[in-house]
Amino acid sequence: MIEKVAVMGAGTMGNGIAQVFAQSGFEVYLRDIEDAFVERGRGAIEKSLARLVKKEKLTDDEAKAAFARVSSGTELEPAKDAPFVVEAIIESTDAKRSIFEELDRITAKEAILASNTSSISITKLGAMTSRPDRFIGMHFMNPVPVMKLVEIIRGLGTSNETYRVTEEVAKKLGKIPVEVNDAPGFVANRILMPLINEAIFAYMEGVATPEAIDTVMKLGMNHPMGPLTLADFIGLDICLSVMEVLHDGIGDPKYRPCPLLKKMVDAGYLGRKSGKGFYEYSD
Ligand code: NAD
Repeated sequence: MIEKVAVMGAGTMGNGIAQVFAQSGFEVYLRDIEDAFVERGRGAIEKSLARLVKKEKLTDDEAKAAFARVSSGTELEPAKDAPFVVEAIIESTDAKRSIFEELDRITAKEAILASNTSSISITKLGAMTSRPDRFIGMHFMNPVPVMKLVEIIRGLGTSNETYRVTEEVAKKLGKIPVEVNDAPGFVANRILMPLINEAIFAYMEGVATPEAIDTVMKLGMNHPMGPLTLADFIGLDICLSVMEVLHDGIGDPKYRPCPLLKKMVDAGYLGRKSGKGFYEYSD
């Protein structure tokens, strides 16, 4: 059984992934490219663990022990002994190519390389390494410590053994793994993003206000958050780029990004992170 993992990228997803591994007893090496990013990631883990202690979901000792299991730095070298690596760096094919080539070179031939990509083909990433059979998608949801789902994505070359080990790891994290084949957007974004896109079309065409659209979906469908609130939370630039992946990858015009979504991204209205999207955010 795997006891040690390396996590590439200490951003939003990487620090959450490192945290859940550490909470589940794994030794973790968390790597980012600059000390400041590593420190920010460590700070986020510490804060998140403290919140769990406050909510009495974790004892103080458990939180301390989990945090002590996370080592970190900017060097790639310490990842070389990890039998399981999760990559959560920026969503760029070139950046991912470069890190997977390096990981492929330094890790043991038996090690499994997993990517948390939201939209890049797992088959394509796997083919950048000498071990497509030991390459797999592990798509966590944000915020990682809270969300139960992990989509486990089989690339064309992923072996059954790699799938089995990854599923076992996900279960050890207390997550619920769901098996998915490699296709644009996998399942989560294939269905969620067209829903958000359609909500934007409805608003653009004057069918209803953002508040009305969100209320219909919340109260009528029992969604915890309306689609336009969710789009602001995810980031409109991310929503647009996923729609483009679906449109380019599947080639069906039903996936065309809504013109209003494009216009808002051009204007810099990216949602929560820019202070303005479908709603205004003062904090
Ligand atoms: P982020 O921008 O918050 O973090 C990315 C981190 O990777 C940054 O700290 C950056 O410095 C670091 N990085 C860049 N190059 C690196 C390298 N070579 N080695 C190590 N670190 C490197 O991004 P994020 O939101 O955490 O997304 C990470 C990945 O997870 C992306 O592939 C994204 O598509 C995917 N994802 C994101 C979400 C989400 O809701 N944010 C959900 C599921 C999947």
